[in-house]
Amino acid sequence: MTFDYDLFVIGGGSGGVRAGRVAAQTGAKVALAEEFRMGGTCVIRGCVPKKLMVFASHFAHANDDASAYGWDISVGDFSWSAFTTKLHAELDRLEGVYGRILANNDVETFHQRATVKDPHTVVLADGQEFSAKHILVATGGHPVVPDIPGKELAITSNDIFWLPELPKSILIVGGGYIASEFAGILNGLGVAVTQVYRGEQILRGFDDEAREIIAAGMRERGVDLHVCQNVKELRKMDDGIEAVLEDGTATTYGQVMYATGRRPNTGGMGLEAAGVQLDHGGAVVVDKYSQTAVPSIFAIGDVTNRVNLTPVAIREGMAFVDTVFNGTPTPVDHALIPSAVFTQPEFGTVGLTEAEAAAQEPIEVYSTSFKPMNHAFAGREDRVLMKLVVSKANRTVLGAHIVADGAGEMIQMVGIAVKMGATKEDFDRTVAVHPTMAEELVTMKAPVRST
Ligand code: NDP
Repeated sequence: MTFDYDLFVIGGGSGGVRAGRVAAQTGAKVALAEEFRMGGTCVIRGCVPKKLMVFASHFAHANDDASAYGWDISVGDFSWSAFTTKLHAELDRLEGVYGRILANNDVETFHQRATVKDPHTVVLADGQEFSAKHILVATGGHPVVPDIPGKELAITSNDIFWLPELPKSILIVGGGYIASEFAGILNGLGVAVTQVYRGEQILRGFDDEAREIIAAGMRERGVDLHVCQNVKELRKMDDGIEAVLEDGTATTYGQVMYATGRRPNTGGMGLEAAGVQLDHGGAVVVDKYSQTAVPSIFAIGDVTNRVNLTPVAIREGMAFVDTVFNGTPTPVDHALIPSAVFTQPEFGTVGLTEAEAAAQEPIEVYSTSFKPMNHAFAGREDRVLMKLVVSKANRTVLGAHIVADGAGEMIQMVGIAVKMGATKEDFDRTVAVHPTMAEELVTMKAPVRST
């Protein structure tokens, strides 16, 4: 049987674009459909604009620090419109880069929605149908707002980059990556930020000691963080949006942003009718090769709700191409993925939390928390955390957790050592780089706890 394409990719985000390009480089005939903008969540309304906003928001503190270091600094106002004009020009540029990557590798692109008709047929919004030997679903996810009265008044992270002006005040609901990152960003940009989280501590799932230090650092920098609290209702007022909390208190904010999780984009895709299995949350169920219940259909990235991070989607895309087009069945390695949360203070983490490791085996915990030299000199209260969780049995470093300026950069390097199976003694054999914060990772002599 002949097909129009060897591969039809649905979704032009990080995973889909990488898989499409690399598959085409093997000589496969590839098409890709994207209904919105090439680049997907990460480039257009996620990691990239978020990180640029993190950079923008750092200047408020940088200016304070500069005065403490003797600079005669006077700071003007932050211009949201000057920033967003540049931001959107940069996103347009990146979108163009993604489009050109595909064109230069002879991937045919369709700027419209595509759905699956059967195991080998894709239908475009304009009615065109194409047959494909393989279909790759890489459609990502979307933010969800819980069903409360007034939910339509809330914005999500999709909207934040498109606000015509920054509000004077904002309520951020949620305690995950997105809520906590934007609390820091908007606080840094001069917005009065209140964050409300339903649990006892933000960033559930991460190391408890790190969570404590991050929450303390956020409060220290001015975020009004409330835990064990949730929003019951939102109401439109003349001067903003009133949020009524479960304890009955009501406050009016310029904006309310929900960051209460994301769901896979599988609705109306025709996947189940074609035989693809979805889980209870709507994610595509795949095996270790990203293959669905339909042998010709594969899925990668957030739509599979495995580890929802761009570099993971890219890895999954590369492994898919190796498996299907290079004749090398390649399972995706999801173990020991280092990651960063761009809260302020910043967080880098790899491996097991202290609680996870202690539940698994006897451990030693090496941990130090201190005011780093640059913050102490500038009179800032922020503390840094350097923490290693070590197996008692074989001395392997099971987890590393860093809260510090540049923690995202540090954890990339520590992640290599941890992925290689480094022991605490391997860390100790490494000479310290002085004076740095990270030198603590190789100079912690005695465990602070042991189980
Ligand atoms: P998360 O799943 O990380 O967090 C969702 C938050 O919303 C949790 O605090 C959760 O509480 C809370 N929540 C869920 N439902 C409700 C509800 N009905 N009412 C009140 N609160 C609720 O999702 P995000 O949206 O923050 O991020 C989505 C994903 O995007 C992340 O998992 C991550 O993989 C990725 N991402 C990664 C980044 C990075 O690498 N730096 C940055 C941004 C996103 P509870 O804890 O109690 O469940």
